[in-house]
Amino acid sequence: MGLRIHFVVDPHGWCCMGLIVFVWLYNFFLIPKIVLFPHYEEGHIPGILIIIFYGIAMFCLVALVRASITDPGRLPENPKIPHGEREFWELCNKCNLMRPKRSHHCSRCGHCVRRMDHHCPWINNCVGEDNHWLFLQLCFYTELLTCYALMFSFCHYYYFLPLKKRNLDLFVVRHELAIMRLAAFMGITMLVGITGLFYTQLIGIITHKTVPVCGEGSGTPLQYSCLEKPMDGGAW
Ligand SMILES: [Zn+2]
Ligand SMILES: [Zn+2]
Repeated sequence: MGLRIHFVVDPHGWCCMGLIVFVWLYNFFLIPKIVLFPHYEEGHIPGILIIIFYGIAMFCLVALVRASITDPGRLPENPKIPHGEREFWELCNKCNLMRPKRSHHCSRCGHCVRRMDHHCPWINNCVGEDNHWLFLQLCFYTELLTCYALMFSFCHYYYFLPLKKRNLDLFVVRHELAIMRLAAFMGITMLVGITGLFYTQLIGIITHKTVPVCGEGSGTPLQYSCLEKPMDGGAW
């Protein structure tokens, strides 16, 4: 299944995603400015660590855009239902279209999504069959970037030698403590949130692997995984 472009018109989702982009921009510009470049210039860290930071940050941004604009698994208006699988399909009473039973109607997107996991306001998109892997990639890179930034923030105050050359004319130097406290607050919030999310996703993957999913294999009875409800409108 090729990845199709998808754009959800939802002001609530735009605000949530705008907040995520703000957190990314804040750390993308201020962590190197306050921590990485000054310590590199004084010979405390090698330049490769700065390149790694920017590399992970770019992977994170690309994963965010891809998870957000990829079609999560919208059903076509006239789906071709494989012969012998009709018992695993049902009519959605909201959009009046046939869908596999593991699909779910998302009220925010306004259509049904195959194997819908949940609607994530932070990416302003549903997480379904076609973008679940992209969503997990985004979580992984965000977790990595957060740990990396928090580690350097910690080292800046408790491990690296103090900086000798400091230009107090710069706004970011004069307000360094407040900026770094806010960065640490954002980092810890993201870390706790995504770790919790990873845990629930992992449990979901393990649960799905242990039971067959409807429509797979011919003549199989309706398995209970078909009856699971996704986390519609959940916090993530
Ligand atoms: Zn529907
Ligand atoms: Zn949705």
